Amino acid sequence: MGELSNIKFTTPEYDEIIPSTGETVKVKPFKVGDEKTLMIAAESKDQKQIVNALKSVVNKCIVEDVNLAYFDYEYLFLKLRAKSVGEISTILATCDNTECGHKNKVEVDLESVKISEVKKIDPIIKLTDDVAIKMKHMPIDEAGRIDVKDTVEALSKSIEQVINGDEVVNIDKSNEAELRKTIADWPTTITTKIRPWFENIPRAYCHVDFTCSKCGTVNSRKLEGLENFF
Ligand SMILES: [Zn+2]
Repeated sequence: MGELSNIKFTTPEYDEIIPSTGETVKVKPFKVGDEKTLMIAAESKDQKQIVNALKSVVNKCIVEDVNLAYFDYEYLFLKLRAKSVGEISTILATCDNTECGHKNKVEVDLESVKISEVKKIDPIIKLTDDVAIKMKHMPIDEAGRIDVKDTVEALSKSIEQVINGDEVVNIDKSNEAELRKTIADWPTTITTKIRPWFENIPRAYCHVDFTCSKCGTVNSRKLEGLENFF
């Protein structure tokens, strides 16, 4: 065993852009074991498992110490995968023709993955004349722990400050539970004011066109979110 573990491979480092900041970082490709961790997570279709695998693998590949938003991880992972195991990922895509529904094998070029534009959206959302909230991008640690479909939970992790008249309350571990209780009591009309923020969070995406091999329908699809790239 000792002799085998002495075998070392040199791994090349190269530059990649962090979408949220536009900074360049040095990265190195991931390894065989990392690829396996991710595949198992992706096949589980479990959001928390995917996020945690993503975080651990991408962190190992970034040479420098950086602070990343969730969508940075998504983007960097797809770029790293292209460099590490090949640029083509084969996915199963269901034909748009509802009478057909055939699952086609479609090749996706991971080098064509882009990040939707990071819009300069105002993080401060006015809820009433007196009350406003300041939003933040949910840290990946949180994204890995919560059920994103739980609105109260997702919101409470995405609020940095609550502004009530002249009073500014910073949200941290000490008042998070209180915030969750408060949010649960908010009228549902408020969520319509907050929705644009969530809709504007950048995602990694790419377009694929394919002709259904069964019925000939030309399908055009936007792949968005990591789970759709496998
Ligand atoms: Zn078809």
